[in-house]
Amino acid sequence: MAYRYQPSKFWTCDCDRTTGGHIIAGHYSACVYCSKTRAQLKEIVVPSGLGGMFSVEILEVGDARAKVQVVSNANGFDQLPPFDVALKDIAPRWKREVTA
Ligand SMILES: [Zn+2]
Repeated sequence: MAYRYQPSKFWTCDCDRTTGGHIIAGHYSACVYCSKTRAQLKEIVVPSGLGGMFSVEILEVGDARAKVQVVSNANGFDQLPPFDVALKDIAPRWKREVTA
């Protein structure tokens, strides 16, 4: 059957990326450490390996790496199977109006 949209399980903020401490479970709406909220998040990006960035959803989080799925890609990379990236390479992009 058709893919059913589910809210993403994880999002990310500006906290320490080397430890993965910036990956936040989807049922929390704000980070207690850096006070970013999920509503401020525009997208989550990782290096594409092709010189650009991919917008992704985080599917699973491990000790040092996370499994991600490309989303909203204009060039069809949404078709890629989920792949692993280092936690430090996962970065948030914020909506323009929240940048100070
Ligand atoms: Zn944070």
